[in-house]
Amino acid sequence: MASMKAVVFKGPGTIAVESVPKPVPGPGEAVMRITATTICGTDVHIVRGEYPVKPGLIIGHEPVGVIDALGPGVDHLFHIGQRVIAGAITPCGQCFYCLNGSHSQCGGALGGWRFGNTINGAWAEYLLVPDAKANLAPIPDTLTDEDVLLCPDIFSTGLSGAESAHIRVGDAVAVFAQGPIGLCATIGARLKGASLIIGIDGNEDRLAMSRTFGATVTLNPSQTDVVAEIKKLTDGRGVDVAIEALGQQTTFESALRAIRPGGTLSSLGVYSGKIVAPYEAIYAGLGDQKIVTTLCPGGHERMRRLMALIEHRRVDLSPPETHKFALDDISEAFDLFSHQRAHVLKVVLYPGVEAVKARKVAPALDAEC
Ligand SMILES: [Zn+2]
Ligand SMILES: [Zn+2]
Repeated sequence: MASMKAVVFKGPGTIAVESVPKPVPGPGEAVMRITATTICGTDVHIVRGEYPVKPGLIIGHEPVGVIDALGPGVDHLFHIGQRVIAGAITPCGQCFYCLNGSHSQCGGALGGWRFGNTINGAWAEYLLVPDAKANLAPIPDTLTDEDVLLCPDIFSTGLSGAESAHIRVGDAVAVFAQGPIGLCATIGARLKGASLIIGIDGNEDRLAMSRTFGATVTLNPSQTDVVAEIKKLTDGRGVDVAIEALGQQTTFESALRAIRPGGTLSSLGVYSGKIVAPYEAIYAGLGDQKIVTTLCPGGHERMRRLMALIEHRRVDLSPPETHKFALDDISEAFDLFSHQRAHVLKVVLYPGVEAVKARKVAPALDAEC
């Protein structure tokens, strides 16, 4: 049996680069050779044991690569060597949830999230893609791997925060937290036609990125009372839409207090424990507000649309990737990302190379500042 290199979750706090069997596609499946992937905040939760996955699982859910093998039933739809991505979420397109439009909940709660959660993921030389017809999305020739690296998860998730809130042209929008997801939510607010876009973060570098990506005003909660400032900016009303992109009680509560009566809180954060809504923030339950939650939309049509935005230069996602690593250097990459050292926003992992010579590309943040 052929083998491959992969990053295996060994238990809370431990990952290891190991040689494991290379996957073989069954009916409807495909195998991708991974040319680039990334580390996301969710992976940090997994490695730390804060989100449970089975020991022995290969982590990672942001695959960019080329088709290496095709199973029966999909071999006429694609060709070997074709450049593709697959979403972090891989809906089957046929179950109760998919046919009701809840593709990310395919098969049951959070069921569409398979890579690096319930099946082996993308931190590997090869990746088995289920339901390949629904999930493989060809990369436009004009785009590089790095151009589309954020499409499988970060970009899709961030944009969905703006989409789920049904932002209308001219809306005032506040985005709480400007990490990669929050920055993509800020892009989403701009694309949806928001007028006032308020980016909120405690990190000044990220606020600078936020302005680059479309925030018209930025607020730092360590320097100002954010909710009071938002009320001031909106004639005392509050914003039409607040997007929460961190997953903490404080940002959830601030987002709730920041929306006007009848406004929408669009929540993207991953929470643990209890989320509390103070009665006055929801006007004793009579404020006509909406709270919507969204798990990253996946499937090839979603991926096609996201890549089209980049292809037609409506969006440039190149700045957030700041550091490059070979798969063998995962520990160093993970340490850098999980501790947020050296202004890191995103790292790029290259499973197919032995070592990445220029580990650190010119940090876009420094260039912007
Ligand atoms: Zn992710
Ligand atoms: Zn399904």
